[in-house]
Amino acid sequence: MRLAVLKERRPAETRVAATPETVKKFIALGLTVAVEAGAGVSAGIPDAEYAAAGAEVAPDAAAALAGAGIVLKIRAPLGAGEGAVDELALIPRGALLLGQLQATPEMAEGYARLGIDAGAMELLPRITRAQSMDILSSQANLAGYRAVIEAAGAFTRGFPMLMTAAGTIPAANVFVMGAGVAGLQAIATARRLGGRVSATDVRPAAKEEIKSLGASFVGYEDEESRAAQTAGGYAKQLSAEFYAKQAEVIATHIAKQDIVVTTALVQGRKAPTLVTEAMVASMKPGSVIVDIAADAGGNVALTKPGEAATTPNGVTILGYHNWPGRIGAASSALFARNLLTFLTTFWDKEAKAPKLPAEDDIVKGVLLTRGGAVIHPSFAPAKA
Ligand code: NAD
Repeated sequence: MRLAVLKERRPAETRVAATPETVKKFIALGLTVAVEAGAGVSAGIPDAEYAAAGAEVAPDAAAALAGAGIVLKIRAPLGAGEGAVDELALIPRGALLLGQLQATPEMAEGYARLGIDAGAMELLPRITRAQSMDILSSQANLAGYRAVIEAAGAFTRGFPMLMTAAGTIPAANVFVMGAGVAGLQAIATARRLGGRVSATDVRPAAKEEIKSLGASFVGYEDEESRAAQTAGGYAKQLSAEFYAKQAEVIATHIAKQDIVVTTALVQGRKAPTLVTEAMVASMKPGSVIVDIAADAGGNVALTKPGEAATTPNGVTILGYHNWPGRIGAASSALFARNLLTFLTTFWDKEAKAPKLPAEDDIVKGVLLTRGGAVIHPSFAPAKA
C-alpha cells in the first residue's frame, strides 16, 4: 500500500505530516511512501532527507497521490476553487485521509461523495489509550511554549529579576488565562524564564495543576465552576453571570501584569472573551498580550487575528494564526508521531494495511466517513 504526504498549501502553515523518522517506520510496516517535493521545507526538512529515509519524492501532489491508500495531512486538503491545486479531486477513492480536518458537515459530505475515508484527528477522545495520538495536546503544548518565547521577545524589559551593579530590574508579572495543555506549558516556560507567574481557569482540577507548577491561582469559584468540566475533560460553556464575576476578579489582577497569555477554549464554540478593551486600557505601556486562542475567535477583545498590534496605551497584542506552526520543526515531529501511533495501533500486520474496528472508541471518535457514507454521530445527517 502507498502512503502519500502532501505539502501544506493553506496560509500560515509551516508543518508537515510526516518526518524522515516516521517515514522509516511506515516503510518498516510494509508501506511505500511518497512525499510531495518541498513538503518539509518550511519545517526544516529538505527532500533529500525524505529520500534518504526511503521515500519517493514526487514532483507534485498528483504524482504523490496516484494510487495512494493512505494520505497524511496537517490541515484539510484543498478542494475545488480553494487554491491552485484541487487536492481532494486527486485523492483516490477508498483512501484513508488523516489530519486536523476541522470538518464542517458539508466537508464530511464531500469526503463521503468522493469515497474518501476521512479521519479528523482533532476529534480523538481524550482517554489514556489515545494520549500518544493526541494532536491537540502535542500541538497545544508547543503553542504554549512558543507564546511565552514570543512574549519575551516582544517585551522590552525581561522575565527574571536582574540584580546588577547598576541596579535591579524587577521580575515580570506573567498571567496565564486557561490552564489546559497550552496554558500549563506557558506557566512552566514563564517560570523557567524567571517570571512571577499566576494563572486562572474555570475547571476545578486546573487549580491544583497551576499550583503544582509553582504559579499562584487567581480566579472566581462558585457552585457553577465546580461543575465546569465535561466528561471529556473540556471546560463547559458557563453562564453570563459567572463570566461577569470572573471578569471582576480578573480586571484588578490584569492591571498589574506585564505579560498576559490567553489560551481559553470551549469546545465547539467561539473562544470566550476574557480580556475586555477596558482591561487592556488598564495595563501599563510596554505590556504584552499573547492570544493563542486567536484562531478560535480570540480571548482578547482587541486581538487582530493574524497580526501583532499595539494599542494607543502601548500594549502589544500578538494574535498570530497557527501558533504550533510558529515552531514548525518541533510541531511537525510530534504531529507526525501522533499519526504514526494511530496507524500502528490500527495496523493489520498480515494485510499490511490499516484495520479500523468500527466499535473501537478511538475509531468512532475520529472517523467521519467510511465506504462513501458519513458515519460520525456528530456529522451524520439526521434520520427522518
Ligand atoms: P482547551 O484547549 O479546550 O481549553 C484550554 C483551557 O481553557 C482549558 O483548561 C479550559 O478549562 C480553559 N477555559 C475555558 N473557559 C475558560 C474561562 N472562561 N476562563 C479561564 N479558562 C477557561 O483544553 P485542553 O488544553 O485541550 O485540555 C482540557 C483538559 O483535558 C485538561 O485537563 C487536560 O489535561 C485534559 N486532557 C486530557 C487528555 C487525555 O487524558 N488523553 C489529553 C489532553 C488533555
